[in-house]
Amino acid sequence: MRIDLHTHSRVSDGTDTPTGLVLKALEAGLDVIALTDHDTFDGVPEAVAAGERMGVRVVPGIEMSTDVAGHSVHLLGYGCDMHHPALTQELATVRDGRSRRLPAMCRQLSEAGVPVSLDDITAAAQSARALGRPHVADAMVARGYVADRTEAFDKYLAEGKPGYVARYSTDLARAITLVHEAGGAAVIAHPWSRGNYDVVTASLLESLVAGYGLDGIEVDHEDHDTDTRRLLFEMGARLGLIRTGSSDYHGAGKKGHPLGINLTRKSAFLELVSRIRSRGGTV
Ligand code: AMP
Ligand code: FE
Ligand code: FE
Ligand code: ZN
Repeated sequence: MRIDLHTHSRVSDGTDTPTGLVLKALEAGLDVIALTDHDTFDGVPEAVAAGERMGVRVVPGIEMSTDVAGHSVHLLGYGCDMHHPALTQELATVRDGRSRRLPAMCRQLSEAGVPVSLDDITAAAQSARALGRPHVADAMVARGYVADRTEAFDKYLAEGKPGYVARYSTDLARAITLVHEAGGAAVIAHPWSRGNYDVVTASLLESLVAGYGLDGIEVDHEDHDTDTRRLLFEMGARLGLIRTGSSDYHGAGKKGHPLGINLTRKSAFLELVSRIRSRGGTV
């Protein structure tokens, strides 16, 4: 069974429609995918319907932008009730904070000599519901300032670079609670990507398991090298965490993350499903 539990559509910062994504999953020989767009469920109904037509099981998911002491940590939520009032309210607040910083980013980019307008960003984002830095990056590519998103982040958009503006994101522990209240299971995405190993420490994980019932961590992810995967796998086992794997596919939006490049073991998936069912979620 080939299971890929972290993918994006163009409803956030991927480049495929939800239907196109499921079609590609079928072509990649996947049996199960989770659609985990950033801070929105809007692509899920279309992806689930496409999955039913094509014989690919689509798990409803989300990737939430969360905060740990000023650092950004991504949390995957699986099987949540997509209409849960507290969760949908919080997601709207996060999306709002994301788009509200765009004028400030435009000003700063202009000062840095690479002007991008709000119209450029909206045009680049097409139908996206969660407007973020990746769409600013696309607008910069369209203007010819940079070759791709990676160069845009490295030179202008990453933390500490001239176009960076901080924004609101949910406290991690609160995000886990919201996912649980909505009936879902909570898994920390790529915990040790981009130097986050001193943010998502063993003791933080331990306290999130003990205090908030964190369900799992993503282990097999392209941001983790072989040693990192081994360490996370062992640490997760010790803490009783479900250990998943995924591509974090973004279509043409992120190179080197093809569908199915990393997979979740069947036993881990079944454990995830049983936790979602026991909380009354949808899977
Ligand atoms: P935002 O939520 O607007 O702050 O943008 C964060 C999103 O940008 C992340 O979820 C990633 O999808 C993407 N991202 C962050 N860093 C990079 C990078 N170096 N290259 C490409 N995409 C990135
Ligand atoms: Fe993304
Ligand atoms: Fe992420
Ligand atoms: Zn992702």
